[in-house]
Amino acid sequence: MKAISITKPQQAEVIELSPPPDPASGEVQLRIRQVGYCGSDLTSFRGLNPLVTYPRIPGHEIGATIESIGANVPEDWSLGQKVLVSPYTHCNNCSACRAGRYNACKNNQTMGVQRDGAMTEFVNVPHEKLFSSDNLTLEEMALVEPLTVGFHAVDRGEVTNDDVVVVFGCGAIGLGVIAGASARKARVVAVDVDDNKLALAKRCGATDTINSLEQDLHQILTEMTDGEGPNVMIEAVGLPQTFRACVEEVCFAGRVVYIGYAKAPVDYETKYFVMKELDIRGSRNALPADFNAVIAHLESGKFPSDEVITKTVALDEAPAALAAWSENPGEITKIHVQF
Ligand SMILES: [Zn+2]
Ligand SMILES: [Zn+2]
Repeated sequence: MKAISITKPQQAEVIELSPPPDPASGEVQLRIRQVGYCGSDLTSFRGLNPLVTYPRIPGHEIGATIESIGANVPEDWSLGQKVLVSPYTHCNNCSACRAGRYNACKNNQTMGVQRDGAMTEFVNVPHEKLFSSDNLTLEEMALVEPLTVGFHAVDRGEVTNDDVVVVFGCGAIGLGVIAGASARKARVVAVDVDDNKLALAKRCGATDTINSLEQDLHQILTEMTDGEGPNVMIEAVGLPQTFRACVEEVCFAGRVVYIGYAKAPVDYETKYFVMKELDIRGSRNALPADFNAVIAHLESGKFPSDEVITKTVALDEAPAALAAWSENPGEITKIHVQF
């Protein structure tokens, strides 16, 4: 069978692999239909992902059908059924797992990152990792996982319909935050430096947009909130200045959630942490409840999936598409590979 491999930094190619064995007890074999490239795949291609060794098969945003079923798999799963996959593992043993926060497992192995991923014709996965929906297309199914990351951040921020939520960054992850906060009926302010991305953010549920290159962020947020500042700030960019802006702009007793990994150390005026008594939280990966929330949101038809998928390519074009994304990251929200 064919697969995509990132063989070393800056090099991806189509390779030939032997297919996986029959699914073991508790596993199903999936025929991969649609896989999205994650930002982490781009980082791996660029040689900047410290968790990755090479060669690595990328991909963990999966729309698939069930090809065969091993022993001891519940009867709710059937041949040919459309499914998507939670690409994480957890050890059940570390402090995060013991607290029920499996998404933050210290020993997590994400498909396509610490272990090989789904850019291949067939993979075996434990049935516990499957989710399904009769009402979503395979394209939409492959969009669920990246959106769960944003939905989880919204949950970490305890967003309610009373909140003004500011989201820094309107890439695929930020759009998930916007959709998640909008599903909770918050006022959602999307911030980016690209007007096209801000227009897409509106269609994903942002009530307000700010182009931080052209507009005065502080002034607009101050006016919008009667001088108090937003209740929740969520960072999905990874720049020191947006990390800092979160604690500077948020209201007293507000919440700050970080999803982005800062690309450089951040200098903070730490007085804001104390003076405002902030809740500052990280957000990593997602829980099963986030998958169910995203599936329900996509089923509601309120998310513009077609517009978020910038382009779809065939397997043979997938290595070149990854290289092109690396050349022009700003122009692409999401690339899907169709098998
Ligand atoms: Zn991802
Ligand atoms: Zn663990």
